[in-house]
Amino acid sequence: MTERITSLNVGDVEREELPVDVLLVGAGPASLACAIHLQRLLAEKGMDDKTILVIDKAEEIGHHTLSGAVMNPRGIAELFPDWKEKGFPVASEVKDDWAEWLRGGGKHSTMRGMLCPPQLKNHGNVIVSLNNIVSWMAEQAEAAGIEIYGGFPATETVFDGDRVKGVITRDSGIAKDGTRKGTFEPGMRVEAEVTVFAEGTRGSLAKSLFKKLDLYAGKNPQTYGTGIKELWEVREDVGKELFGKVFHTGGYPLGSDAYGGSWVYGSAPNQLSLGFVIGLDQGDAKLDPHALFVKWKQHARIAKLLEGGKVVRYGAKTVPEGGYFSMPKLYGDGFVLVGDTAGFLNAATLKGIHLAIKSGMMAAEAIAEALAAGDTSSAKLARYDELFEASWAKDELYSVRNYRQAFEGGLVSGIIDFGLQRITGGRGLKGKRGGHADHDAMRPISQSKMEKPRFNDTNALDKLTDVYLSGAIHEEDQPSHLLIPDPTICVERCTQEYGNPCQHFCPAAVYEWPDGADHVVINASNCVHCKTCDIADPYENIEWVVPEGGGGPKYVDM
Ligand code: SF4
Repeated sequence: MTERITSLNVGDVEREELPVDVLLVGAGPASLACAIHLQRLLAEKGMDDKTILVIDKAEEIGHHTLSGAVMNPRGIAELFPDWKEKGFPVASEVKDDWAEWLRGGGKHSTMRGMLCPPQLKNHGNVIVSLNNIVSWMAEQAEAAGIEIYGGFPATETVFDGDRVKGVITRDSGIAKDGTRKGTFEPGMRVEAEVTVFAEGTRGSLAKSLFKKLDLYAGKNPQTYGTGIKELWEVREDVGKELFGKVFHTGGYPLGSDAYGGSWVYGSAPNQLSLGFVIGLDQGDAKLDPHALFVKWKQHARIAKLLEGGKVVRYGAKTVPEGGYFSMPKLYGDGFVLVGDTAGFLNAATLKGIHLAIKSGMMAAEAIAEALAAGDTSSAKLARYDELFEASWAKDELYSVRNYRQAFEGGLVSGIIDFGLQRITGGRGLKGKRGGHADHDAMRPISQSKMEKPRFNDTNALDKLTDVYLSGAIHEEDQPSHLLIPDPTICVERCTQEYGNPCQHFCPAAVYEWPDGADHVVINASNCVHCKTCDIADPYENIEWVVPEGGGGPKYVDM
């Protein structure tokens, strides 16, 4: 096993120290809900003097946040009962929903009403842009007096034994060769009574924490999907017809051995949000989520919608699909985990925003009680877990606890088992299904069946053109934030056994193996921070660590 590298910081440097009471690492919906709710609870307890700080690696809050998205409003309605009056950004209420099964030869079948799988019905939900939601929530938090620092990537957790004491943020101004440039600025040491890890999916600090404190003991490993999204400006007739409507597809281009599917959301009268998610346990060494997305767009059913339109934005991210049994222990001495970092996502309904908000609120209650008692130990923060176990969030996740794992045996057995789960309260064929890390499912390159699509400049953009539309940019003269701890594995084993899958699974063309090359070329600037490489590498030989502040995609309306 290779050694985990957590930080690209230089060692011997004097760091500014910033003590706060509560530090939230990441500024997504879970984190901001936690900060807002905590501020209120502390005020109620007469503890307004406690300091709350949110830090995020994106220069502008929301720029690294991406989702489909259709949102169940239950979470935001708990946080802000007057969310509608306050101007919470909603693109549209869901006016109609259905599912489609795509087949070869451009054919499809539509499933409406009773025939539409119940988990894909969206009556009462709203179509949103997650990065607009996050910007709005950040405004609410700042208006309430909460400090939010953008462009502050946390690169290292500060420990006192097993107790989390805060984080160190990434140094800036380090050249590619590791020397300090004239612009060098050391990262800060932010110490906190409680640190809230809200890094989103596959957080780099959370990953280290899971290992150091064995937070997955007795749990299933997390299983992930990679989602690819484009925002399209479409023809007037298509935009008007689909505005406020939601449909999901299964089938083409996937075979019956893979878990995945797509969404089409009418997010504006001239706009569609399109996306495709594929489980990273699919096993093909040439698995290429972007290529599957392109093939899906070229199916006649989808291609017809896109004719005459153009892509305006692109993005990708992984989603934690494992569910209740794949959630880590949620707390420890001086810390809690919220949102995607802790696996708060219902893979059956493809929704996590409401659960993320709820997780942040429950964490806030536990933190407020702990601060009031002057005791932020694991024993006190265990209250978060008690609140979760008694909550609707637990009921929802528990009801689909075996959902994703049921598909490990393929689509047919998955559908049968999930049908049984629905009438047995989530039990299905087995009371508790086990799981495995996604990369363990990878098969040798000789068994690959994946074929690449033909690209064009209309509905089948290649990766590099798409990356341009993500706005991804990084300071070029810095050490790569994509680390290969043991490059000999790539050449001496991976090339033969798996054909260097990184060149396929990365949706941003970061990894290249030019013909005859004896090492991988890493185009780190292209990285959209989806974390697929950190999850899917079969030897766990890619470490994603935070780049300098400001680096990454610039998602707008995504
Ligand atoms: Fe995603 Fe890794 Fe590619 Fe970056 S390098 S876009 S994290 S797969």
